[in-house]
Amino acid sequence: MSHSGIGMTSQRTRERLIERIRAQGVRDEKVLSQILNTPRHLFIDEALSSRAYEDTALPIGKSQTISQPYIVARMTEALLEHGPLENVLEVGTGSGYQTAILSPLVRRVYTTERIESLLSQARSRFHQLRLINIRTRHTDGGLGWPQYAPFDGIIVTAAPLGVPLALVQQLRVGGRMVLPVGDKDKQALVRVTKTEDSHDIEMLEAASFVPLLDGVK
Ligand code: SAH
Repeated sequence: MSHSGIGMTSQRTRERLIERIRAQGVRDEKVLSQILNTPRHLFIDEALSSRAYEDTALPIGKSQTISQPYIVARMTEALLEHGPLENVLEVGTGSGYQTAILSPLVRRVYTTERIESLLSQARSRFHQLRLINIRTRHTDGGLGWPQYAPFDGIIVTAAPLGVPLALVQQLRVGGRMVLPVGDKDKQALVRVTKTEDSHDIEMLEAASFVPLLDGVK
């Protein structure tokens, strides 16, 4: 991996990003250190590299975006809050940035993406960064990945209109899912915890994600 000598990847620039995320209330040091140590500029087009450590979402092509670092940190923290997780399903690989943040914090990540070209770029980044506990699949992730269910955790990085029951079914009892829910005018980040006979929903904060879409491309 080469990120030598370029100002935008300087330690100071990344530390400033961490300070911003901390100021917004993220407390999990493991998550913050993952954000500090993950080269976000490798997950976006070179033309945008100078903005890689700004706390904003950026375009990654195909009308999709790499999530804002704060929201990645917040979702990861919410997912891991009640103890470590073994196997986690991710819906919406996109650039692979969220996957890379999560990968060292759990035993295995199963990540799904409906747009093949984005997934293949993400795969080569995982390879380049030697993240070997990630399994990828080109599929409609709204249907989950039944072969590896039940999951201890699920993270969804595109917004369905409501909580997808197919995903709740693939959580183990006590497992949790963090996802944005709603349309582009009114969207909230929520955490769903699976119970013996149903599930609980907690509202976390307002959110603004691209929509979860059906089918593959
Ligand atoms: N976590 C990503 C966010 C990418 S944006 C990152 O940080 O880069 C959300 C992604 O969800 C897009 O790439 C979009 O193609 C994908 N997506 C939307 N609906 C999907 C579905 N049903 N299954 C899998 N991926 C989906």
